Amino acid sequence: MDSFQYRKGRLFAEEVPVEAVAQAVGTPVYIYSKATILDHFTKIQKAYAGLETLICYSIKACGNIHILRLLAQAGSGFDIVSGGELYRARQAGADPSKIVFAGVGKTDREILDALEAGIAYFNIESEAELQNLIDLCKKHGKKAKGALRVNPDIQYDSHKHITTGVKETKFGVDIERAKKVFAEYGRNGVVELSAIHVHLGSGGKTIDPYVNAVQKILPLIEQLRREGFRIDTLDLGGGYGADYESDTVPSAAAYAAGLVPLLKKAGLKLILEPGKSIIANAAILLTKVLYKKVGGQKTFVIVDAGMNDLIRPCLYEAFHFIWPTSVPERLVPPARVKEPAMPGMEKVDVVGPICESTDYFAKERLLPPVERGDCLAIFTAGAYGFTMAGNYNARPLCAEVLVDGSRFAVIRRRQTYEDLIAPEKIDLSWMPGQPSK
Ligand SMILES: *Cc1c(COP(=O)(O)O)cnc(C)c1O
Repeated sequence: MDSFQYRKGRLFAEEVPVEAVAQAVGTPVYIYSKATILDHFTKIQKAYAGLETLICYSIKACGNIHILRLLAQAGSGFDIVSGGELYRARQAGADPSKIVFAGVGKTDREILDALEAGIAYFNIESEAELQNLIDLCKKHGKKAKGALRVNPDIQYDSHKHITTGVKETKFGVDIERAKKVFAEYGRNGVVELSAIHVHLGSGGKTIDPYVNAVQKILPLIEQLRREGFRIDTLDLGGGYGADYESDTVPSAAAYAAGLVPLLKKAGLKLILEPGKSIIANAAILLTKVLYKKVGGQKTFVIVDAGMNDLIRPCLYEAFHFIWPTSVPERLVPPARVKEPAMPGMEKVDVVGPICESTDYFAKERLLPPVERGDCLAIFTAGAYGFTMAGNYNARPLCAEVLVDGSRFAVIRRRQTYEDLIAPEKIDLSWMPGQPSK
């Protein structure tokens, strides 16, 4: 459930008609709902209330500092994967002791910044990274806590580009190798390895992979404890489902019902790193129809958003429900499904303006007939939407807007053409043939 609903045929974000945002800010624009963000977050908080749990929202899903600040104020910690995300988190007022740092390629500078900040855990992806962290701690007189990332080798029903929990990936180590890592590095004196980290991937539709993963990891933890290692925390990563189609994924309460008893029995604290389950359906990408092109077999709806604004369909063949923001009441969609069964629909491809044939949002999609100037909402666009946006085709990054009740604010202004070339304003007048300053 989210706060993007039709009233008398017009789409609202909370109490704001989304077309009012288009009029004030232009399109394309991401529109976030504060109520939806906080609703998802507090549902997770409540679901896991019976277990000592730290929720670390995954910044890479959507990192606008105003959204991070809302979550920090609600008690969230953060999962970061770079120094830039550490900077974002700190700008948003995050508590560093609630930050966990994952990623296979942490640089020395990023590690030192995180040590200086005093983050909660480094999620360790390889022996070489652990050795480097130990060396840096010794050199700079620091101590740190590490969570070794272990792959439980769980097959996960997801797209091949976002599967990470199987044996052969660049992330983490397998269970046998984990034992060796503890034997070799577990007593180094500066990096306390007191947690295991698991991240299965993204986009799950059942709780089974998580329960299976915990059941595979618990014997490892028991063995490590018998060998004298004090493991008190399991970080279960992210990847909890989000409703790209209506009501297709388990609730936070359903995940918790499967997981909490297992962890309680094992005397483990829990860290969660949800990204898309909090932010995905907390936003729409609003775009305008530029042209309609009727070909031999196909009808193309050409919109003003492109793959540079939202790359998920092109990158993962991801499904996003799309619908006009104003429709006759009989065409208000009863649910967000792949094949809406309503009369009077038109089969179209929704494509962007970019010079790439992969620049599309939907293929062979049934939509109410639209015309030039109509607005379309691309739903469930909050996760890996704006964060993956780029300037390809010299397209300025679009604006982001946050709705709170009947009010809204631009939380990131649309880029200008000047923004596009600002980092290139460099004096080359010493180079023959270049203009003098
Ligand atoms: C991407 C990522 C997450 C968040 O994944 P979602 O699918 O957005 O929940 C959490 N933890 C790690 C380590 C990640 O790489």
